[in-house]
Amino acid sequence: MKKSCRRAIIAGNWKMNKTPKEAEELIRGILPLVKDADCEVICCVPYVDLPVALQLTNGSNVKVGSENCHWEKSGAYTGEISADMLASMEVPYVIIGHSERRTYFGETDVTVNKRIRAALDAGLSVIVCVGESLEQREQGITSELVSMQTKIALNGVSEEEMKRMIIAYEPLWAIGTGKTATSEQANEVCSVIRNTLKSLYGEKVSEGTTIQYGGSMKAKNAAELLAQPDVDGGLIGGASLKPDDFAAIVDAASKG
Ligand code: PEP
Repeated sequence: MKKSCRRAIIAGNWKMNKTPKEAEELIRGILPLVKDADCEVICCVPYVDLPVALQLTNGSNVKVGSENCHWEKSGAYTGEISADMLASMEVPYVIIGHSERRTYFGETDVTVNKRIRAALDAGLSVIVCVGESLEQREQGITSELVSMQTKIALNGVSEEEMKRMIIAYEPLWAIGTGKTATSEQANEVCSVIRNTLKSLYGEKVSEGTTIQYGGSMKAKNAAELLAQPDVDGGLIGGASLKPDDFAAIVDAASKG
């Protein structure tokens, strides 16, 4: 399958930014700029912004996602949100395993897998993040590490469920640092992920799955990154908070 047959997806990750009032302003800014996009557009927002984001994007080409969910359906997990709660609000997407969750909140490959399982069971689509630290890159273990993260994340995920999985390759050293992976580095690791999918599910699934790059993607470098054969989209942090910058990346993906 050619790259052009895969879904190009640009997803914003707002992180812990924007009150509901500010979210309203940001969504209103983004909507008209991306209305003719020839790629999928997703805004992943803080929990408290979900109602306003869902309401404002209703009937538009912009989809909404959450930034995490818990693996249990309900119970004594103060401060957590279940996948069923997101599904009940008709939130279609959720990010799982972002490196900030792994670094600051004790997320492991095993808990990432449990959260993915819960999200898929609730009917959500998942953007799962994998990626190496600078130390791991310098040790020369990027490929093995990212492949292993991918395998553990997808443990128990069926071929059919892979239609609701997006993989985001996000090198930790490039997130929020202004340092972007070169397009060759990004493509090399996205291709390792695609080969891992091939070993797990065969060619049809590996060629059909959207693999994003994330890490300081911005208007200036998006076109080159998105032109790579194994880079099908982007997970965007900082630039997703600025309508013009986000729209420029969406534009680059639409042309890519
Ligand atoms: C991210 O948060 O997933 C990310 C890629 O952030 P940034 O674009 O700011 O590097």
